[in-house]
Amino acid sequence: MEEMKTNIYEDKKLAAKMIVRLKKHYNDSKTALKWSNPFELLIATMLSAQCTDDRVNLVTPSLFRKYPTPKSFAKALESEVRELIKSCGLYKTKAKSIITSSQLIENKFNGQVPDSMENLLLLRGVARKTANIILSSCFKKAEGIAVDTHVARLAKRFFFSLKEEPNKIEQDLMDVFDKKDWLKVNYMLVEHGRHICKAIKPECAQCFLRDCCPSFNAVQQKRPFVTVKYAQSLDGKIAAKSSDSKWISNDDARVFAHRLRVDNDAILIGINTAINDDPLLDVRLVQGRNPVRVILDSNLKISVNSKIVKTAKEIPTIIFTKSKDQAKIKKLKYIDVFPLKGLQDTLEVLAKKKIKRLLVEGGGEVISSFMREKLVDTIFVVVAPIFIGNDGIPAIGNLNVTKVKASIKLNKVNEYSFADNSLFRLNLR
Ligand code: SF4
Repeated sequence: MEEMKTNIYEDKKLAAKMIVRLKKHYNDSKTALKWSNPFELLIATMLSAQCTDDRVNLVTPSLFRKYPTPKSFAKALESEVRELIKSCGLYKTKAKSIITSSQLIENKFNGQVPDSMENLLLLRGVARKTANIILSSCFKKAEGIAVDTHVARLAKRFFFSLKEEPNKIEQDLMDVFDKKDWLKVNYMLVEHGRHICKAIKPECAQCFLRDCCPSFNAVQQKRPFVTVKYAQSLDGKIAAKSSDSKWISNDDARVFAHRLRVDNDAILIGINTAINDDPLLDVRLVQGRNPVRVILDSNLKISVNSKIVKTAKEIPTIIFTKSKDQAKIKKLKYIDVFPLKGLQDTLEVLAKKKIKRLLVEGGGEVISSFMREKLVDTIFVVVAPIFIGNDGIPAIGNLNVTKVKASIKLNKVNEYSFADNSLFRLNLR
């Protein structure tokens, strides 16, 4: 299994634009937790795991009155600490962590909260998020960016990181934000996440980032974020006449394609791609779960012997069709079959099935339908240094463009190299 070294979500221009505006609105933002010394902030941050800051602020005054120093916590009875922090949730684990960490601070660090990432991570119950908060708030040290639920959500909405693990999201954010801003990134994103870019109903209409937010259209239209990905020859073909598209891109580009599958909740293809390539649409070259497979199949032409149908018991699969052929539908017994009413409707159905990110992998007609209907949020194109010529199958189908002036305009977000293959990330203007 290979892991990709390239961060395909790096978008420094967008991050820089975002920071300027965030500073305008939230320059003075800081943690909402109440504290008067590094030790109090450490304990308050430990208590805030899966708990609101308001709740923690209700608990800490009496807690710190009874145990004002690491020394007093180090000698505390676990049952008494538990009682005082009960309302914060996970109180048994938190009480143990607070006491054990206090003992280590007392015995190893002379009663002082350590001021390095390395030493903070030695404390029980302290992961990078807490350590980053202590380092930035108490010691003005930027060793990373604290990732909590708000930061993780905004990282996804801004397409800076689609990962789930906080440490990996942090790494992606450190790639896009300038180090001089790391001290403030967490607090500003948390403020924005709390007040505007909320989890359930983000207030896009009043958001000062809406003109540059990659998720604005998807959120407004209540649909998944749509990524298009395809590999083409230098002369814009995705396959030769024989429909043989398998070896256009190189090995590294294929690893990238599988990484992209892991980062999305579902992959969508048209029936012609399903028939011509008989793909499995699974994840093989990197580690990660298989996304849901979605096939647009107007006339229900999919073969019951295709790899997709044969593996539908193991990999969730959805077909959208106009066909009412109940006998055929019955044969597709592990597949969810929905009426095909149009792309917007298809996307709404997928959104209701909790699909937040959709990867459209082809073919050319399907991709151009998404483009014509302005349902594409970002595009990844791999270009291989080969010519296929006139007989090849074009990467993009009909876009109803009759004059160059009316062509669909794109902004290049970034460009990467996979040996002799080039990868472009583009957004529609
Ligand atoms: S436009 Fe909407 S999704 Fe984007 S940051 Fe603003 S509130 Fe969040």
